[in-house]
Amino acid sequence: MSDQEIHVGGTLVWYYYVCKREVWLMGRHITPDEDDTNVVLGRFLAEQSYHRDKKEVSFGNIKFDIIRHDNRGLVVGEVKKSSKHSKSARMQLAYYLWELSGKGIEATGELLFPREKKRELVELNPELVSELERAKRDILRIIYDPIPPKAEKKSICRNCAYAEFCWS
Ligand code: SF4
Repeated sequence: MSDQEIHVGGTLVWYYYVCKREVWLMGRHITPDEDDTNVVLGRFLAEQSYHRDKKEVSFGNIKFDIIRHDNRGLVVGEVKKSSKHSKSARMQLAYYLWELSGKGIEATGELLFPREKKRELVELNPELVSELERAKRDILRIIYDPIPPKAEKKSICRNCAYAEFCWS
């Protein structure tokens, strides 16, 4: 694989904290079934929730579900199906904030869990940045590895669009 083919973005960061094997699959553009129920549900929730906010804005390689201005300044939001993987969601959003900060744009993050009617604030700090740097290095190491990490059965496998690939 060449360097040009790999861009570590927020989505890969999310997968990194959920399943390293998924990072390898996504990083190599082995995409899951777009009609899988979980992929469809995630898309539906992002489209239908929080109507008042401006949605799906791209900034270079970064895609935001929501972007708006309020008394905190620029706020970028990420919509999630549930708070079950809140660490992954937090790191994904922190990664977006870090990328924006690198371009001179300071923003606050907001995680949105519409089905649970919950919001969570995410703010960049030096500890988060160190963890993101470490995660980014490890994500690249995983993707450059010619062999994917071994599949390990966990509860999320049941709802993963790669389940057939991993377990059949
Ligand atoms: S099915 Fe399980 S092991 Fe395979 S990619 Fe999905 S979460 Fe990872």
